[in-house]
Amino acid sequence: MDKRFWSSRIQDLEPYIPGEQPKDRVFIKLNTNENPYPPSPKVLEAIRSAADETLRLYPDPEASQLRQTIAEYHGLTPEQVFCGNGSDEVLGLCFYAFFSPGRRVIFPDITYSFYPVYAHLFQLDFEEIPLNEDFSFPVEKFLRGSGGAVVCNPNAPTGRTLPLEEICRILEADPNRVVMVDEAYADFGARSAVELLNRYPNLVTVHTLSKSRSLAGMRVGYALGSPEVMAAVRCVKNSFNSYPLDRLALAAGEAAIRDVEYFEESRRKVMATRERTTARLRELGFFVHDSNANFIFITHPAVGGKELQQGLRDRGVLVRWFDKPRIRDYLRVSIGTDQEMEAMCRACQDILKG
Ligand SMILES: *Cc1c(COP(=O)(O)O)cnc(C)c1O
Repeated sequence: MDKRFWSSRIQDLEPYIPGEQPKDRVFIKLNTNENPYPPSPKVLEAIRSAADETLRLYPDPEASQLRQTIAEYHGLTPEQVFCGNGSDEVLGLCFYAFFSPGRRVIFPDITYSFYPVYAHLFQLDFEEIPLNEDFSFPVEKFLRGSGGAVVCNPNAPTGRTLPLEEICRILEADPNRVVMVDEAYADFGARSAVELLNRYPNLVTVHTLSKSRSLAGMRVGYALGSPEVMAAVRCVKNSFNSYPLDRLALAAGEAAIRDVEYFEESRRKVMATRERTTARLRELGFFVHDSNANFIFITHPAVGGKELQQGLRDRGVLVRWFDKPRIRDYLRVSIGTDQEMEAMCRACQDILKG
């Protein structure tokens, strides 16, 4: 491609590739970790009532009410909350706000693949620390000083969880660097690091309403941290786009956080289906990592990852395969409804017979 008019900053940039959103046919969609259940009816109601003549007005640039609601939910103050258009945006602003060129940022080699993209975009030095052979987290290697650390917990795409005691060790090893904990999947069975926030001023946790609150289409995410640290993210945001969340997203986000009962029920169903699917796939000879997320990471000794992905696609099931060293024989499978997972298991069985 002719890149004559592209800034020198982006000549070698490789953007993030999101999972496929098919338009041509109906698939059982287990490739992007969306929630199989709809958002709370109260969320839909809130969006409907926010869709009125006030849309001609800009939204609240500070997202004050949403931040108040999130703060109450977590037992924090609104100054400890920062909201953005999905946690991807929040992560991007955080990378810019906390990490400096020339000071190496560390994260695992197998983790959310957006982290190296942000690091490249912002011209940061970074090191991808290899996970252990069994994909457990090499805590010792995160105790060395660095310009910052990012930990996805539970990790994607492995689903494995790091206990809070280990996160404390990483925070304590170097109190002068920010440690970001991406908790996109923490609602599906991991212990959240939010309880550590008032003890560690260098901790930032990042959250999304896309997964456990069924709002991927709405784009709402947030970060939590000390007021001083959140002020840094606000400074970056207001230098880039001062009105990040629109009126409908603000209304939806608030209603979603408030409806605790619906949230509990929906995540309970996802976790129960995950356990049933894990058992079923192990019976079929799959190796399945124990997961605390709304997906499982699976491999089978008799079929390669790419082959299995294609076989599932031919049978109407979309899952995620990563063309990456060490995990080429693995698939990441989002947890759908019981029926969808049953269909996925049957398709696997069919492929294994062939
Ligand atoms: C899905 C995901 C996100 C981003 O979610 P948004 O939809 O942008 O809020 C962030 N981190 C991880 C690890 C994810 O899997």
